[in-house]
Amino acid sequence: MTTPVDAAGAAEVLARHREVTVLCHLRPDADALGSSSGLARALRARGVTVHHSFDPGVVPEALGVIPGTDRVVPLEQVPAHDGLVVTLDCASPDRVGRWDRLAAAATEVLVVDHHGSNPGFGSHILLDPSAASTATLVLDVLDAGGFPLDEETATSLYAGLVTDTGSFRWGGAASHETARRLLAAGAESSELTHALLDAHSFAWLRVLGDLLTTVRLEPDAVGGGGSVWLAVPHEVISAADEDDVESLVSHLRGVREARVAVLLKEYLPGEWAVSLRSRPGGAGPGLVDVSAIAAALGGGGHPSAAGCTMRGDLRTVSTRLRDLLG
Ligand code: 5GP
Ligand code: MN
Repeated sequence: MTTPVDAAGAAEVLARHREVTVLCHLRPDADALGSSSGLARALRARGVTVHHSFDPGVVPEALGVIPGTDRVVPLEQVPAHDGLVVTLDCASPDRVGRWDRLAAAATEVLVVDHHGSNPGFGSHILLDPSAASTATLVLDVLDAGGFPLDEETATSLYAGLVTDTGSFRWGGAASHETARRLLAAGAESSELTHALLDAHSFAWLRVLGDLLTTVRLEPDAVGGGGSVWLAVPHEVISAADEDDVESLVSHLRGVREARVAVLLKEYLPGEWAVSLRSRPGGAGPGLVDVSAIAAALGGGGHPSAAGCTMRGDLRTVSTRLRDLLG
């Protein structure tokens, strides 16, 4: 049974434990690593033994700018222990990866997340789909538990907030209030955001140029709203940085003629990590809820940003997606 908790309830769960494993999702983004690094640091400052990890546990180079990521250990090195496991930014148990032995040994599992598609898991869950980022929820928990907020913790949490709000394009007044708190506490923004949002290698520009020649527009798809598609084959992905590949979706979502963007990433041969993005406005229906489409394929996410994993050749996978998108 999973008990829903608020921030104060989550802080009470944390206060019961002296050894905590802090996990975030597979192929982590800045919210996953920022929220987990911030929580790990605050717990350590209280004298708690923390194992900070994800599956498999190699931090992508670009995310190494987030304070605390240097203390991430590979998942296989995390000892199974009684006590607490916390999962951050994980929309479902499978998003945590191969953590069964850790969950089985733990006496409690606290889930902290902001994905509306989360079905609920763990012994306790702090789930708030209105939160701009999981980092926002961690800040609420630290506040409720009376944890001090130092510059490093604030910077880690800011990393999650600034990226999950698309640099504050969405998230509303509350996200600006959270940013104000974090910046006032000493969060570093300019080097961090350059590294997270702008920086890439020179070589990537050439790869990007080649890839963009393969983009396809389907103007009549999605009830006339239009869709834009890009597939990144395994031979390209295996030579590229993961964060560069993940950044491709931002090029697609800018296409005026498409309300839905589809990025297909063949990280493993024949296995496609699918990123879906949706925006309202223009021709066609209202906002297409891409989290519902991702959920139908075993994934999940937010109404305007979601993902899933599909197996098969590109044509089969694309046809399946196209049918669901309408
Ligand atoms: P992205 O396209 O950036 O990988 O993910 C977009 C959103 O969908 C994120 O909030 C992410 O957590 C969620 N998401 C991506 N892939 C999956 C998946 O396979 N399962 C679930 N449940 N959520 C996913
Ligand atoms: Mn998030």
